Amino acid sequence: MTDRLYYHDSFLYHFDAEVCELTDDPRPALVLDRTAFYPTSGGQVFDTGWIYTDPETKLRVTEVADREDGKVVHYVEATRDLKPGSRIHGQVDADRRRDHMQQHSGQHVLSAAFIRLFDLQTVSFHMADDYCSIDLDTPTLTKQQIEAAERLANEIILENRAVEIQFVTRDEATNLGLRKLPPAERDELRLIDIRDFDLTACGGTHVSHTGQIGSVQLRKTERVRQGWRVEFVAGQRAVATARRDFTTLTETAALFSANLYDVPQQARKSLDEIRSLRKQREQSQEELAEAQAGTLLAETPESNGRKLIVRTFSDRDLNFLKLLAQRLTRLSPNTVALLATTSPQAALVFAQSAGHSVAGQSLDMGALMKETTTALGGRGGGSKDMAQGGVPNAEGIQAALVNVSQKLA
Ligand SMILES: [Zn+2]
Repeated sequence: MTDRLYYHDSFLYHFDAEVCELTDDPRPALVLDRTAFYPTSGGQVFDTGWIYTDPETKLRVTEVADREDGKVVHYVEATRDLKPGSRIHGQVDADRRRDHMQQHSGQHVLSAAFIRLFDLQTVSFHMADDYCSIDLDTPTLTKQQIEAAERLANEIILENRAVEIQFVTRDEATNLGLRKLPPAERDELRLIDIRDFDLTACGGTHVSHTGQIGSVQLRKTERVRQGWRVEFVAGQRAVATARRDFTTLTETAALFSANLYDVPQQARKSLDEIRSLRKQREQSQEELAEAQAGTLLAETPESNGRKLIVRTFSDRDLNFLKLLAQRLTRLSPNTVALLATTSPQAALVFAQSAGHSVAGQSLDMGALMKETTTALGGRGGGSKDMAQGGVPNAEGIQAALVNVSQKLA
């Protein structure tokens, strides 16, 4: 078993050790007789840092993991000329470790706060690169409960209570009233004791006083299989997150020329306006389509048993083309409409009045559309009476329509 120096001192960032094992398979790694590097476990992620083979030569430690035999494996960029028995000096990345201590100790305080206030047990803890989360064993979680737990956790942090490491036997632990007793594996348990607030078995690295956590900020909550997930950030992460929130909100407020706290009200107002304008626009488009259909039908004479209407627009959307095609073919029998638009997106609509045929010959708009759009490098199709399609660019649309109309004339 590797001697885990972090068990006794979370603030130990420098240590000397001896190399016990080396491997390059599947990637370069080494095992030491003792280490201050924390391997991923109990929800807390691994430390990184450096291993000095001499005062000038250092290897980057990129990941640290627990192995089944109780040894800690340090993954490094290369093992170089290290051999079993080599002496090394280890240096843990102190900034990363401090961040992990703030998150993990913050989690203990927060979990204890949920128990003290609402008897809600934490069933799991997860630490990611930018936020952490706990899962609470509860069918419901209210905004009031979240705010109360956040408040109590921050009170405990402000009181700067001592956080101590204790080692006890399993029997002793049973009588201490732990928040969580781990499954029976070892006889000796390591406890983290937040004075008069929380006592729990944990192998993680922790602050020595709650004040070092800085603060805890609760974020998103969501329903998960085993209860409710609560995301949180502690320490400098809480400051960085608040800063990012402020920047985002400030940018948004500037868009509305509004005060920060009026942003939701302004956004709601704008959304209402957009909805109402969209409705008005739809209505105008329908009216416009109706009017334009009337004009087009009036100015187009029937020839060879049909009215053939061919039009290319430069500023209408597909939706308008469909409205216009519907009006044209409904308002007048024996009408065929070949419509296109070049922007905002090049599109075509072909339609004919229901039951239209000339000398017993009927047309198939879907087939005609497929053929036309394929020739233009696009896609399209539809039913016998109504078809639509899109093409990658507007060039060639007008010529294609002329081509089709000549076939029908
Ligand atoms: Zn813990």
